[in-house]
Amino acid sequence: MHVSAAGLRYVARDEDLRTKVFRCDDPEGLDRLLGEPVKDGDTPEIEFQYDVTPKVGVERPYIRCAHCGYPNHWRGFVMQHASGARILVGKDCGESLYGASFVRNARDFDQLATRQIQLARLEEVMRAFGPFLGYLAALAHHESVDQVRRLLSDMEAGANTLLRQLQAAARHNSGGLTVVERQRDLAAEAKRTSDKGKPIYVDQTREVGRLAGWTLFRATGEMLPDNIRNTHDTAKVWFNVLIEKRSTDHWTADGLRKLFAGLNAVIDAVENQLEVMTAYKAVVHPSNLLMIAEWASLAPRVPGTWSANPSQLVWKKDSGAVSVIDITPPSAPLDWTPFMTFRRAVRMERVKSPNPPTDGKESSWAA
Ligand SMILES: [Zn+2]
Repeated sequence: MHVSAAGLRYVARDEDLRTKVFRCDDPEGLDRLLGEPVKDGDTPEIEFQYDVTPKVGVERPYIRCAHCGYPNHWRGFVMQHASGARILVGKDCGESLYGASFVRNARDFDQLATRQIQLARLEEVMRAFGPFLGYLAALAHHESVDQVRRLLSDMEAGANTLLRQLQAAARHNSGGLTVVERQRDLAAEAKRTSDKGKPIYVDQTREVGRLAGWTLFRATGEMLPDNIRNTHDTAKVWFNVLIEKRSTDHWTADGLRKLFAGLNAVIDAVENQLEVMTAYKAVVHPSNLLMIAEWASLAPRVPGTWSANPSQLVWKKDSGAVSVIDITPPSAPLDWTPFMTFRRAVRMERVKSPNPPTDGKESSWAA
């Protein structure tokens, strides 16, 4: 005799799985419960599986098995006839009379519950994807992105040595701007026995300041707008995959895993780019510009003298020539609600499962 796994007859299609509840915490509270199995009736099928084993120290009477006729179990099956009438069957009777494996059933249950969550996630992602693509398309051309590109390309063209040193500080020193200074080593001078009065020098590294927004200079290679366009292209590929497989019944568990991994990578890329844009605001803060100018004037690897005002970084070269890097104040960022909504969907921050795991309960299913 074959009995389908937990509620499986209700969930031949993903659409039916969406809201299906497998767990039943109060089997005795269900309606249409019969005390005995229906004689000459159809074979009932498993509707729920339950495990009401109480915690240690908690009293809980056994549940009555419809076949045995007396209370003898905490783990069992709610079985339903085609008429809708139900019986409660202990785990052992379920196995011997209906061939229902409590353990196998629990495994099926777990798989279905996992898929159920993924389907809810997929639906959220589908809803949020269109607006997210629109956001990426707008972002690639947004002023806040272009000003980052402009600053980096202006520095590349007009203040190359400074740019290289800021990049080195970002990559190797977490933005710490240091200079090496020669200082008298008075302790060493006092200790020695010969050459009294002759100065001893020692090199000391001093941090002039810490570059605010240094992550802006950590980035290498492609410019921000290109990065965003690439991310947009990748996101569009995933979107098309989603559209092609519109019916979720085409999604295998492995396919879903790959999809969500791909979308997580897209989100990481966007976050990196947003971080750079946030860093721009810190970089062009007037006090940060002053600190950069002070450090650049001291640093031997950056020739010339530097000064700053809120809208310019001014480089007076040793030759007397003056070069100016214009600084644009940070513009208001693009409203990133569509991105946040999409991120919440992919990262499942809003998905509620109809079968939420209960503390430690799942392990007892398969015990
Ligand atoms: Zn029984």
